Amino acid sequence: MSIMMSELSWDEYQRRIRDDAIVLLPVGAVEQHGHHLPLGTDWMMATYMARRAAENVNGIVAAPISYGYRSQVRTGGGAHQCGTTNLDGGTLINLVKDVVKELARHGARKIAVIDGHFENRFYLDEACFLAIRELQWAGIEDARILKMIYAEKISDETMEKVYAGGDYPGLDLEHGGILETAMMLYCYPDLVHLDRVKDEPLPEFPPYDMFPGNPDWVPTSGALSSGKLATAEKGKLLVEEFVATVTESLRREFRNPA
Ligand SMILES: [Zn+2]
Repeated sequence: MSIMMSELSWDEYQRRIRDDAIVLLPVGAVEQHGHHLPLGTDWMMATYMARRAAENVNGIVAAPISYGYRSQVRTGGGAHQCGTTNLDGGTLINLVKDVVKELARHGARKIAVIDGHFENRFYLDEACFLAIRELQWAGIEDARILKMIYAEKISDETMEKVYAGGDYPGLDLEHGGILETAMMLYCYPDLVHLDRVKDEPLPEFPPYDMFPGNPDWVPTSGALSSGKLATAEKGKLLVEEFVATVTESLRREFRNPA
């Protein structure tokens, strides 16, 4: 039987939920990632991670939330390129809160929100907090949500191998850079066009933001660092480490309560 909620009939889904399956909700973004990566990079990677982890814990992947909080100039290149399709913060909070409450209404008690877009972070915190509070008010006291950015932690060993021959630009500048390019090469090779990577100088951002954002701050490609040194092997290292981290986190919180 599929582990993707969207591929299950209602009664199959109900059976899985009643078996106390962990339900993973991927949240991403639709955002430019340079000339070489697709607009769906963030939600596709979040969904990939959720699917792989769900396989390990016999969980279910809820239909993903593809859109995310607005792209920021200094971390995602901003919103000036065509295709970067943002939600307002309040919309994302309400969207995730509603979906989580619906999952719980149908019986899910172990819910994991898997984030693939850095800028979603605090909005997802708020959505999870409000969802739990409203569920408690409604008398559902035993629902719990684990929320994580799948790429929260990278081991030194993997970092050394991934950045061999190049410099780590810092996580903020890793937009469309080696990490994302390598992971996409491993997971969705047909959607990556390495020959289109532009090797532009790293942007030098001031220590503040401007509203409206200034497109001149951002390299013309939209990627904040170069993905030129990305390979599928590096992607495999990263992805398998992240899958293991997500899986371990789910097992720790939902299968072995202290
Ligand atoms: Zn991204």
